Amino acid sequence: MSTTHEAGWAHAPGALRGPSWLREPADPNALVPHLWSRTARKVDGVLQVGGIPVTELAAQHGTPAYVLDEDDFRARARAFREAFSDFDVFYAGKAFLSTAVARWVAEEGLHLDVCSAGELLVAERAGFDMARVGYHGNNKSEAELARAVRLGVGRIIVDSFDEVERLTRLTAEGPDRPDRLVRVMVRVTAGVEAHTHEYIATAHEDQKFGFSITSGDALEAVRRVQEAPALELRGLHSHIGSQIFDSSGFEVAARRVLALHARVRDELGVVMPETDLGGGFGIAYTTQDDPAEPARLAAEMRAIVEHECRALGLDVPRLSIEPGRAIVGPSMCTIYTVGTVKEVALDGGARRTYVSVDGGMSDNIRTALYDADYSCTLAGRDSGAAGRLSRVVGKHCEAGDVVVKDEFLPADVAPGDLLAVPATGAYCRSLASNYNHALRPPVVAVRDGASRVVVRRETEEDLLATDVGDE
Ligand SMILES: *Cc1c(COP(=O)(O)O)cnc(C)c1O
Repeated sequence: MSTTHEAGWAHAPGALRGPSWLREPADPNALVPHLWSRTARKVDGVLQVGGIPVTELAAQHGTPAYVLDEDDFRARARAFREAFSDFDVFYAGKAFLSTAVARWVAEEGLHLDVCSAGELLVAERAGFDMARVGYHGNNKSEAELARAVRLGVGRIIVDSFDEVERLTRLTAEGPDRPDRLVRVMVRVTAGVEAHTHEYIATAHEDQKFGFSITSGDALEAVRRVQEAPALELRGLHSHIGSQIFDSSGFEVAARRVLALHARVRDELGVVMPETDLGGGFGIAYTTQDDPAEPARLAAEMRAIVEHECRALGLDVPRLSIEPGRAIVGPSMCTIYTVGTVKEVALDGGARRTYVSVDGGMSDNIRTALYDADYSCTLAGRDSGAAGRLSRVVGKHCEAGDVVVKDEFLPADVAPGDLLAVPATGAYCRSLASNYNHALRPPVVAVRDGASRVVVRRETEEDLLATDVGDE
């Protein structure tokens, strides 16, 4: 806990202090626009998204519910495609995927990354052009690879020697058509680990993904893919982490990855035409975060790659990136209903206000899992009360079931009030669970004053469907 005195609210003896970055807003009803999707606004204190008051959405669809701003999603997808117009932009489906979203991704001209058989199934169900799908994962089974090959997936990102062998065996008969070589990228660890506001460059990475460049494994993997007659070696893939705010981590990764391109050319006589620099572009969850515009990132990444290629005497490869969070994250908010408000006495005499909502770690595990910061707002009415530092918690049987660690909410927040948490589009519904037999909330898409359910709320029948008893 911070020991510095923040202006105003922290001067009372025993007053609770939030994290040093959190400032008490002049008006606790006001939205911080850059944390919200672009159609979000308050009208007479009521949050509206896509032209619909969340009071109406709550009445119609219940709470908790994820509200997906379709215009915002499409605008962000388009912004990446336009800023990175000379790249292939793969939307990372693991952030959030449904058949509706897969269609929007296709309509906005992006490619799609999947990293499991289930995500591939959603893409298939959505009618996504398989030639524009990339398939990731560190443990793809033979059956999963066979299916991907049969479907004609555009690129398979191989992650182990076992997988190269499986894929070689599967395609040993040769391609079923000469134009159906299986396109492969080799995932490498560039020895860069990005963490929000910093990155760490290391010689080795002690993690499960990719082939190490420094050990020579990456070069060996490239050689084996190159030798397999039905595989078409496209290039190298590197993904350095998530919530990255500048291009310095990408710079180190690109330098190491392109050096391997040059080495493959020199030692194996093979020019690989593509490089994928992965995803991880950061978004604003709270006022601490200041993400860069896609256009700036694109210009910087282009300059880095061109500079390195010039130095290595390489032609600039076709580049791709894989944003997930940066497209869908800010496009969704979660609406909850307050159930209880409790004041808890802390050591030193301060009191913390716990506001319990009707969801929690089953619909947003990121706070518990990553110690993530979120913000929230009173969404269903205006309040004349002063701000009070509050903690928003869920209804699960875990002390760590926290949704928003610290936020100034109006002091009169009471049972029945609606709260909304912005920036819950990425890794919330996709990581949602049935913990405590919770029903996973729906995803309600909003646009131009109309709402429609694109993922429905689970029912009690869904909950019991897999419980076959002992008969
Ligand atoms: C998770 C992941 C992404 C997307 O990361 P974001 O932080 O959502 O942008 C992209 N590529 C790969 C290989 C990933 O594993």
